[in-house]
Amino acid sequence: MNSMEEKKRIVVLGAGESGTGAAILAKSKGFDVFVSDLSEINEYYRSELDARGIEWEQKQHTEERILTADEVIKSPGIPSDVPIVQKLMAQGTPVISEIEFAGRYTNAKMICVTGSNGKTTTTSLIYHIFKMAGMNVGLAGNIGSSLARQVAEHNYDYYVIELSSFQLDNMYDFRADIAVLMNITPDHLDRYDNRMQNYVDSKMRVIRNQTKDDSFVYWNDDPIICRELKRYGLKATLYPFAEAKKEELAAYVDNDMLYFNSPYAFNMEQESLALTGKHNLYNSMAAGISANIAGIKCETIRKALQTFKGVEHRMERVARVNGIDFINDSKATNVNSCWYALHSMPVKCVLILGGKDKGNDYSEIADLVREKCCGLVYLGLHNEKLHDFFDGFGLPVADVRSMKDAVAAAYRMAKKGEIVLLSPCCASFDLFKNYEDRGNQFKEFVKAL
Ligand code: ADP
Repeated sequence: MNSMEEKKRIVVLGAGESGTGAAILAKSKGFDVFVSDLSEINEYYRSELDARGIEWEQKQHTEERILTADEVIKSPGIPSDVPIVQKLMAQGTPVISEIEFAGRYTNAKMICVTGSNGKTTTTSLIYHIFKMAGMNVGLAGNIGSSLARQVAEHNYDYYVIELSSFQLDNMYDFRADIAVLMNITPDHLDRYDNRMQNYVDSKMRVIRNQTKDDSFVYWNDDPIICRELKRYGLKATLYPFAEAKKEELAAYVDNDMLYFNSPYAFNMEQESLALTGKHNLYNSMAAGISANIAGIKCETIRKALQTFKGVEHRMERVARVNGIDFINDSKATNVNSCWYALHSMPVKCVLILGGKDKGNDYSEIADLVREKCCGLVYLGLHNEKLHDFFDGFGLPVADVRSMKDAVAAAYRMAKKGEIVLLSPCCASFDLFKNYEDRGNQFKEFVKAL
């Protein structure tokens, strides 16, 4: 760079884990970096930025400093339709995601997991298998530290990355060596102009730029994925999985045995999987195939799938009180995830549901509620829609506005041998900080029974 040439200016919008990580990486690569957040920045991140001499602002966006950027890295929590992003796009400034940026600075192999449900579980499961195999691997994306931070501070051979549709939206040249797509069902439509196809297009970006050397792992029974795949002339090797046996599948179940077919064939008893329920069978298949593609020995894959401890707030067994099992599935923030939770119930359950509705259509779980539930507890600020839909089912119902009351009401309704399931179908922001807060409160009040 000659003395007359200006350093390239990078502006990072949003200073959570993703934005701070992006700023740290950009700074370490010698860019002139400025971070801007319309909210207050968490003290920990502020001190991290200060320690590296990275300039930042909070509770405002100073346009003169942002609109003059050569490139902008946008945190996934910021929608594209906010005025500052609209202005940047209108003037042609590239707006990219943190993952896109980080991908430029590493040659590690990228295993990218997306889908409407099952991302965190599958990503964690893949990471668990790779760790057991002794691989030099990082876990990134929505879980733990950001990819950018890890690229700045570590030198991993593999990254297992959980990608939300918001992260995929601003990815352009990034390429996944192994792309995993679990399913596509309606979610976050408020961020996609209420058009399902926009959300679908976002999810399909996970296969963008894939070549014949790459792999695509997906659930073969998902009608949307299969329909969409026909539209893309994908060159990557396909690894479909599904429950019922078909020779072309990379994994399937036959006579209670789980078969992995390609690239290397091996099998294991379905019963021996650590995670139970139909949804976790799919998650285990996707993880096993990904590890199989990476050349991990079948003994290790088998053992890892048998020993995985599960992820907090996902069908997490909390306690048994007077013969009633309490299960925390607080992360079930949409109707489809609750469907799988109900489907896996071996006995009758009292379902605690409700919260911030994202335009939910409860008809998807109506049959399962009739079949599996012995009571319903509506936990939300606005429970009218739940009353309208479910009251006619003739089940005992309770209307509550705190987790303490929800646990007490469910405990009163359930009988010995039954289950109390928190699987809310909704976001948590009406009564809780986030789904973790909701799940933690549930656990706290259950343990206090
Ligand atoms: P995500 O990260 O995509 O939100 P999680 O792994 O955190 O997914 O699981 C969220 C919830 O979705 C779980 O509590 C469970 O009820 C449900 N779930 C998990 N895996 C699947 C799957 N493969 N298909 C449908 N639902 C699932």
